[in-house]
This record gives sequence, structure tokens and C-alpha cells, in this order.
Amino acid sequence: MPRYTLKEIRNKIENGSISMESLTTEYLQAIEDTKELNVYVNVFGNEALAQARALDIKFNANPSQMGKLFGAVVSIKDVICYQGHEVTAGSKILSGFKSLYNSTAVAKLLSEDAIIIGSTNCDEFAMGSSNENSSYGPVRNMDNPDFIPGGSSGGAAVSVQIDSCLMALGSDTGGSVRQPAAYCGLIGIKPTYGRVSRHGLIAYASSFDQIGIVGRNTEDIALLLEVISGADEYDSTVSNKMVPEYSKDIRTDKKIKIGVLNSFFNHPKMNEEIKSSSLKVLKYLENEGFTMVPQEFINIDYLVPSYYVLTTAEASSNLSRFDGIKFGYRSNTNSNLETLYRASRTEGFGMEVKRRIMLGTFVLSSGYYDAYFEKAQKIRTLVKEEIERLFTEVDVIALPISMDYPWKIGDSNQDPVTVYLSDVFTVIANLCGIPGISFPLGRGKNNLSSGIQLLSKKFEEQHLFNMTAILQNMAQ
Ligand code: GLN
Repeated sequence: MPRYTLKEIRNKIENGSISMESLTTEYLQAIEDTKELNVYVNVFGNEALAQARALDIKFNANPSQMGKLFGAVVSIKDVICYQGHEVTAGSKILSGFKSLYNSTAVAKLLSEDAIIIGSTNCDEFAMGSSNENSSYGPVRNMDNPDFIPGGSSGGAAVSVQIDSCLMALGSDTGGSVRQPAAYCGLIGIKPTYGRVSRHGLIAYASSFDQIGIVGRNTEDIALLLEVISGADEYDSTVSNKMVPEYSKDIRTDKKIKIGVLNSFFNHPKMNEEIKSSSLKVLKYLENEGFTMVPQEFINIDYLVPSYYVLTTAEASSNLSRFDGIKFGYRSNTNSNLETLYRASRTEGFGMEVKRRIMLGTFVLSSGYYDAYFEKAQKIRTLVKEEIERLFTEVDVIALPISMDYPWKIGDSNQDPVTVYLSDVFTVIANLCGIPGISFPLGRGKNNLSSGIQLLSKKFEEQHLFNMTAILQNMAQ
């Protein structure tokens, strides 16, 4: 399957060498050919083809009438609602549940003539960093199928990696778009909290969750973000701020100031190869005329603990609605209401989700609220203040995505804390509500990748796109 950009696809459609139908057929074939990677939960094959044919007819009748995303075939993570289609958050507790409405992101995609090809596998309720926590089993990394693709949007990343779509929508609560994108050699962005509506995104931790995008090409990702962003009457946390034309405003000549978190790159547990490729990228930028400002971030040890206290607290509340009555799975053990609730939740949720519901309920319980939840909230404020301070000196901050490469499937199952700690570099953006992007560093050990991460101030996604456009040129 050729790796076209959206522009190339549009050109090929215009000169008649491909049609949306032929393109969609090739994408569907890619899904067929890689079934063993366990990428998709549901493939909307017939429907995608019908959409493609309808778009071909519309284009042939009046090419100037096509939407901004005509030519784009997109996958959606199994936490994003698409009316009339099953959505399960990778969980048995939602099996068979069909969404009654479109998420705002999906509605916007469709209104600009994108095609949705299927829903992708993910960690249950987006809780995980490896895609090993899905009720459908793990997703495999195409670059080395014995290894994880990262998570929780592992299926989203691999759907792009196998060229079964142009881009993927995922969700990022603590790194779930940026980390799998990096592990699969792709670009991943988590926008500012409040940039994209969360209406129709199944909630994990509502003050952290954002829909994000995985893709290969900066301009395409920028265009997709432009389309799905913006005010929404169904989500009061979405900003009314005007949405820039990110894709048109990409500037590769802007010599901005980059803060470099040296102690992160020099962390004793940092993989040497990842470190040296990251430093090479930074050196390249310096040679290109960017000013590098060495910076320190002090509160590193508190990032993961505060993130896991706050997100599990929010999750314990958000997931209380799954009771065997309203949605999806219902247990047969139903002698009375109490046993029905209990049995449905016991049978429906997987182990990691149960662990987090219990942890979250504990940190919110009377007597522990002050000791854990309130303290974590204070740390969140401190982290935000520290980041704001760093941004008084620079426009963009550079840091790693991960200390190491993806691990072998099954290796981490016994020790959740080790997995939690692997999120240290990605949770900052979500704790602060700022945007972050990951750029792949190229293949290393075991043919696998990781990435470098760039953060900017709230609503300054443009800086991030400018930077990855420059890095894309470097990689070519
Ligand atoms: N790995 C993190 C967690 O398990 C992040 C997940 C996410 O961003 N959805 O909470």
C-alpha cells in the first residue's frame, strides 16, 4: 500500500489514477492482510465503500464542492462514538453496545467528507501504556510483532503503521496518543485541553482526556486538527477561541526558543541509543538556527503519583455508570439489584480497570481524601506553575517520550507500577492541559522506535506543527 499524503491522494483523484473506491479497497485489503496484529475491533467495510462511491460521484459531478477532508480515510479508537456503530472501550462491559449519537469529532470528520474505516483496539477504557489490557487481547507492533505498539491507542497507531488509513483518532489522558505514535514510528499530537470537544468520547479522567491524532505527515495532521477543533455546545470545557488554519500556517523558518530538559535526557535509566538520537535531533535544530535554552524541571518524582491519584479518582466516578442496567453487558446472576450490579461489574471489567476503580475510590474516601486526592491536586498546581515558569523563557520545551523502547508483549503484566512509571514524560502535558507532540526517532533496538516530545503553551499547537514539519524535512 503506497504511503500518500492527503495532497498526493487529491492529485491522484484529480488526474484519475485512483478513486476513493479504489483507495478504500486497498486500505481494507491492508486490514485483511494484517489480521494477526489485532488492530481493529470493528471494520466498517461495506459502509466505507458505500461512502467512497458516493464521494466519487459527488466529486465527478462537482469537484469544487468537496469537503476539506475529501481523500482522507480515518480510523477511530474504540472509545469514540459513531452513531449506530458498536463502541466498547476495549471492554466486555460494553460488548454489543451501539452508540446512539455521533461524537462531535466524528460528526465534524463526516461533514468534511472523511471516511471512517473502522474502530481500533485499545487498552480497556484507555487505561494502559501497552495495549495489553484490552478484552480483545493485545495489539502487535508491525515493526516487530512480538512487541507492544504502546498504548492505550495502540490500535490507532498500528492502523496507520499498516497503511489501513491516512490518519487515526485516538485519545490521550496521559500519553496514549503520543507514546504509541512514537513506538510505531509515527507523529502523534495531544491538543490543548479544551481544543477538541470530548462529547462522545467515553470518559476515563475528564479533566485530562483529549482526542488526539496519529499520522505520518504534519500538514495532514494539522488539517485534521483544524477540522475537529472548536466550540461545541455539548461540551462546556471546550474553548471558544478561534481555530487557526494550522495546515496553512506551517512555517519552517521560524527560529523560536527551545527549552531542553537536560536532566530528563540524562536520566540514569534513559536508554543510551534513544538519548543519543534525541541529542542528534536537538543538535540539528541548533544548527538550523534555533536557540537552545537548557532548563531544569524539579518536580519529576511527583508526576506519576499525582497523575495516578487524580486519574483513578476521576475514573472511579466516571465508570460508576456501567452497572449492567444501562449499557452493554449484563450478568445472569441477578437475584436482586445489588447482586446484579456487583456481578455485572465483576464479570464485565478487566483486572486493570478494577484495580483503578478501587484505587480511585480509596483516594476519594473519607479519611484519605486529604492525604491523597487533595495533595495530588496541590501537586498538579505546582507542576502547572513550574511549566508556566519555564514557558516565560522559551516557546517550546523538548523532552523524551519514554526512557526505553517498547517491551515484549507479556513482559510487564506482573508489575503495574513499572508500567505506570513509564508514563513519566507524557503525563506532564495532561496535568497542565498543554499540547504535546511526538516525533519518531527512527528504528533502533529490535527494529523498534521511540520519539522526542515537544510541548508548547496552551493553544500554541502551531509551534508544534512548525517543529515537526522541520524535523520531517530533516528525516527525508
Ligand atoms: N498510560 C496512561 C494511563 O494508563 C495514559 C493512558 C491514556 O493516555 N489514555 O493512564
